[in-house]
Amino acid sequence: MTKMRLGVFGGTFNPIHFGHLHIAQEFARMLGLSQVLFVPTAMPPHKQAEDLAPAADRFELCRMAVRDHPFCRVNDTEIRRGGKSYTVDTLRILTEQYPDTRLFLLMGEDMFLTLQNWREPEKIWQMADICAAPRSAEPGDELYLHQEYLETLGARVHICPITFLSVSSTMVREKAARGESLAGLVPPPVERYIKEHGLYRRA
Ligand code: ATP
Repeated sequence: MTKMRLGVFGGTFNPIHFGHLHIAQEFARMLGLSQVLFVPTAMPPHKQAEDLAPAADRFELCRMAVRDHPFCRVNDTEIRRGGKSYTVDTLRILTEQYPDTRLFLLMGEDMFLTLQNWREPEKIWQMADICAAPRSAEPGDELYLHQEYLETLGARVHICPITFLSVSSTMVREKAARGESLAGLVPPPVERYIKEHGLYRRA
């Protein structure tokens, strides 16, 4: 029996934007994934939580954003667990929830280059293939050098040459704080929700 191939895409998603949707779609196409699970963090362990919108709002925004992407789902494992979110714990839960499934952990370059510093990194790559996308228009050799390094530690790594979209959640939050349009950065329902709920507005 061939195993189902499932993408696991963790992030703060504060908020979700077109860069996230674009790489999810491209990873799915390049790696032959049948589904991608977006897993918003409760509290990100690797990042400063400035301007962090409530988990319920970030989750709802993810659900709205993936509505037109039938291969995407949003998973509330980390939000329900609360506290700091560690990928290794999430993968343990997903391994039980999805038997006979090969997991592919999806991430952008910035996160990929720090992977060996996450909690129990060897356990992470025992449970999932590691998949990375560039996060600049003209990526250098770092991605491939890091792939070689992680492979010597036992990881299975896929570098996917996905066209870079220059969007970040920081950009979206800054525009929202200034009351500017978010067109082209997030799907229209996400923009409406951010405006209606006053998210990322400066006091
Ligand atoms: P922030 O601006 O707040 O740091 P972010 O845009 O990096 O947020 P996250 O939710 O922290 O968004 O990112 C989740 C994952 O998506 C990470 O693995 C990150 O590398 C990746 N990612 C985010 N935006 C892009 C992009 N434009 N291209 C490629 N990868 C991206």
